[in-house]
Amino acid sequence: MSKFHWSLIIFLLLELGLWIMVARGMSSYASPFILIFVYSLFLFAMSMMPGVNFFVKAQNHVASDRVMLTFDDGPHPELTPLTLDILKEKQVKAMFFLIGKNVEAHPELVKRIIAEGHMVGGHTYLHEPAFGFKFGSALDKDIMRAQNLLTDLSGKEEVYFRPPFGVTNPNVAQVIKKRGLQMIGWSLRTYDTAYDFDSLKVQKVITQTKPGDIVLMHERVKSTCEALPELIDGIRKRGMEFGVLSQ
Ligand SMILES: [Zn+2]
Repeated sequence: MSKFHWSLIIFLLLELGLWIMVARGMSSYASPFILIFVYSLFLFAMSMMPGVNFFVKAQNHVASDRVMLTFDDGPHPELTPLTLDILKEKQVKAMFFLIGKNVEAHPELVKRIIAEGHMVGGHTYLHEPAFGFKFGSALDKDIMRAQNLLTDLSGKEEVYFRPPFGVTNPNVAQVIKKRGLQMIGWSLRTYDTAYDFDSLKVQKVITQTKPGDIVLMHERVKSTCEALPELIDGIRKRGMEFGVLSQ
């Protein structure tokens, strides 16, 4: 059972207890509704925190003491080739979580990512802000369309998946379980879509990085691409090497 299922059982028992108290005149009608409100807020918070493994058990660290760089939201027509050039020059293997519609638009870039020894994972076909509200066949289709595009390009079943915005909920958990997907989270977030990488930020991320970390970055952010050589050199200077899940 997931942490979500345990929390649901506790919630239902507390609700039952409160309703019994209401029936006996020991509590007001407001209290069971307050609990529903508080539990809903709690679930919403948990849906935004994939690292907690609340709905789905995700892999948030690599098994070794290496550091895995991950790039979300690609492939990007201008920045992906530059990112790949840097990774090749620095001899770093990374993992790319690709959006299905971008894969469809730039299959040659995905082939290059795979040919150069990097790992790929699906990141849904549409990557919509409303991802967290999807369910049933619409959700299944959005996730699996991207997975299947990658499988077609790589020639092997691609099971790695990262949800957009890190959103998880019981619906997402159900698709992951049913389709045998493996969710990959992160342990170090660079917030590169919110704040551009400048030299101060590069130093901060270098200092924060620990062995085994999975670092979340975005392929579509220009400053991330520009900061990459300094970031790689800095992490290496601290005695850490890079690898992907299986290394
Ligand atoms: Zn994304």
